Amino acid sequence: MSTIFDKIISREIPAEIVYEDDLSLAFKDINPQAPVHLLIIPKQHIATINDITEDNREIVGHLYWVAAKIAAQYDFAKDGYRVVMNCNEDGGQSVYHIHLHLLAGITMGWPPF
Ligand code: 5GP
Repeated sequence: MSTIFDKIISREIPAEIVYEDDLSLAFKDINPQAPVHLLIIPKQHIATINDITEDNREIVGHLYWVAAKIAAQYDFAKDGYRVVMNCNEDGGQSVYHIHLHLLAGITMGWPPF
């Protein structure tokens, strides 16, 4: 099922894109929850973590590699940041196309509820 993120990938709707390669796209979250709030998504549609298969497991590693690559370009890499992927309703997922949230620029608490 198509989501708003497919429209961002196809440039049907705009986003502040900070990184792109053949497999993934990273852009600023429209409703940031931290001074830096980026979303890192695969171009391939995978709805939730539950839908990750053996065939596409490498893309998930790729998303983390992109997170590290982006972090290295910012000052926050050494201070720390959070990378999280929500799954389904109880996990707080609202867009059903998997995405890493990369949050930085503030000291965060734990647990997240
Ligand atoms: P989730 O709740 O699924 O983990 O995260 C979805 C994220 O997508 C939210 O943080 C929300 O602010 C962001 N988002 C939803 N629609 C758009 C949009 O059209 N553009 C951008 N840049 N972010 C969006």
